[in-house]
Amino acid sequence: LITMGQADHSVITTCAYCGVGCSFRAEMQGDELVRMVPNQDGHANHGHSCVKGRFAIGYATHPDRITTPMIREKITDPWRVVSWEEAIAHTAREFKRIQAEHGKFSIGGITSSRCTNEETYLVQKLVRAGFGNNNVDTCARVCHSPTGYGLKQTLGESAGTQDFDSVLHADVIMVIGANPTDGHPVFASQMKRRLRGDDGRDPARLIVIDPRRIDIIKTPHVQADHHLKLRPGTNVAVLNALAHVVVTEGLVDEAFVAARCEPEAFDKWRAFVADPAQSPEAMETELGVPAAEIRAAARLYATGGNGAIYYGLGVTEHSQGSTAVMAIANLAMATGNLGRRGVGVNPLRGQNNVQGSCDMGSFPHELPGYRHVSDAEVRGLFEREWNVSLHDEPGLRIPNMFEAALDGEFKGLYIEGEDIGQSDPNTRHVTAALSAMECVVVQDLFLNETAKYAHVFLPGSSFMEKDGTFTNAERRISRVRRIMAPKAGYADWEITQLLSNAMGYPMHYTHPSQIMDEIARLTPTFTGVSFDRIDELGSIQWPCNETHPDGTPTMHVDEFVRGKGKFMLTGYVPTREKVNGRFPLLLTTGRILSQYNVGAQTRRTPNSTWHDEDRLEIHPHDAEERGIAHDDWVGVESRAGDTVLRARITDRVQPGVIYTTFHFPGSGANVITTDNSDWATNCPEYKVTAVQVTRVTQP
Ligand code: SF4
Repeated sequence: LITMGQADHSVITTCAYCGVGCSFRAEMQGDELVRMVPNQDGHANHGHSCVKGRFAIGYATHPDRITTPMIREKITDPWRVVSWEEAIAHTAREFKRIQAEHGKFSIGGITSSRCTNEETYLVQKLVRAGFGNNNVDTCARVCHSPTGYGLKQTLGESAGTQDFDSVLHADVIMVIGANPTDGHPVFASQMKRRLRGDDGRDPARLIVIDPRRIDIIKTPHVQADHHLKLRPGTNVAVLNALAHVVVTEGLVDEAFVAARCEPEAFDKWRAFVADPAQSPEAMETELGVPAAEIRAAARLYATGGNGAIYYGLGVTEHSQGSTAVMAIANLAMATGNLGRRGVGVNPLRGQNNVQGSCDMGSFPHELPGYRHVSDAEVRGLFEREWNVSLHDEPGLRIPNMFEAALDGEFKGLYIEGEDIGQSDPNTRHVTAALSAMECVVVQDLFLNETAKYAHVFLPGSSFMEKDGTFTNAERRISRVRRIMAPKAGYADWEITQLLSNAMGYPMHYTHPSQIMDEIARLTPTFTGVSFDRIDELGSIQWPCNETHPDGTPTMHVDEFVRGKGKFMLTGYVPTREKVNGRFPLLLTTGRILSQYNVGAQTRRTPNSTWHDEDRLEIHPHDAEERGIAHDDWVGVESRAGDTVLRARITDRVQPGVIYTTFHFPGSGANVITTDNSDWATNCPEYKVTAVQVTRVTQP
């Protein structure tokens, strides 16, 4: 894709990989991309980038790209190339047939956090207005849905509280269940600047809570003060133990709590965490962390000045993911670490537009702006704008769609930009559900794992081929600008519109800016957002409205979005995923710097010359016990399935815990993850799987 020629013009756009949302200048020669240069004026990255955003872009013109629509009657049939007219007409006919035979709730759609805000908005509009139900969900279901739930309950808004630059004002940084160096590298560099004290001030102190020794714990001139190396699945217990120390050692910011929080809920919470059963000493064995270490970390966070918490999927992807998010918010409220620069509760979002796909109403229970579908006033607003009557009950979440498919009640699925056949847990269960459907429509760049079970393939567009916006982890809305024509003729939003028209619900947009204008008309936190305004300011952090015309870097400054902050009780319930004689090890998962999620993009770039397979990290003690040497092939078996990986022996993981990534379909980490999920949101428990590991011969 990258030519070595001389650029004759450039276009500012936004990286389509992680939730940092770096701004790039695409240098062009005619309609050929010469190179991607990090934008010095980029508000999220200030001229920095990582190896993905700058170099891993060749997937957009990779020969694997499918550029023509295809259909087939049965998934065992070969694909037949058809015109766009035939593909769209066939899909609409099939969806209408299914609804006529099985009822209007028998079909649904899945949006993607890789697509633009405008595209995800259109998918949920198609489902609600065109399909006539609320069966729409997003891949955020499997990553940060607990963030949406937990922060809404406690603070009143389903989003992080700070901008990235806020970390430069932190005195104590707590990283929980996130690996910024690999997952959010440009933000990690900013964090490290503060941890090194590059600004001449005393370096910020660092607390890391993670079962594995991640890089930021010890990098040049950075050494974590505390690494709480807990057992996978015990986040809530350690957060309650930290809170116990804060409450019982008189470290609560009483003035903040009295002024900003609901007193009754606080009193109940205080009594709950003060119980000796929550103490570090009581939980020491369960956590595998010395009580004294927990006490020291709690004192540092509560008394060290501005305390900022950053967390990731190591918090959310648990059976108590939502509880852990609420426990983090409780801790921040109790210590007064909210509402100003340098503090806060900051989810590090995995994909480029996780925040945006959630904001856009991609959940089955919420219209855009996190408003429940049962709210008649809100529904009326959308009904008038969309000229349609909307259903008032939540639809199916992704796992519920699978269950309904296996029960014979859910028959048709439109999937835009999401490879559920690889990314969702317990692959066997997912593919059985897909196989039970009568019309699976995949709209994507490549014939991915899900497409193996599809009846219609609609070729999608890369971020270079369309206009729109992404919203990063700090609520920053940035422009994505088209630098080349769509390879298959249409941008994704246009395909959704074609399908909606064919389904009988007309849409008439001629540019994505019109979609954003509609979002702004309907969503109070977006009323000041438009393409023109983003062009003028460079980017905008929502809320952007009459009160905050230039956006909002720090939320909850004078009061919480819900008014008073609400402490929630966060009782620890151990995961159902238990080790035993047959499955004696706990598997947890994560990412590596050079690859991105299921790898559909990065595997088709030179980044794969650095990492071309998922490896299993195992502690020397566990390896020796099993006769496993470095680079040996090992079988990994769980209650859900089995796979084969190559071993990397390392003391990064503790005895009893193994670790792998999930970037390559062959090894299939999700073949072995289970159906366990968060009690509130069904976010899968990817981070805890009981397994056995044995040495095998090469597969
Ligand atoms: Fe892209 Fe994230 Fe890398 Fe920035 S840090 S260049 S957004 S992958």
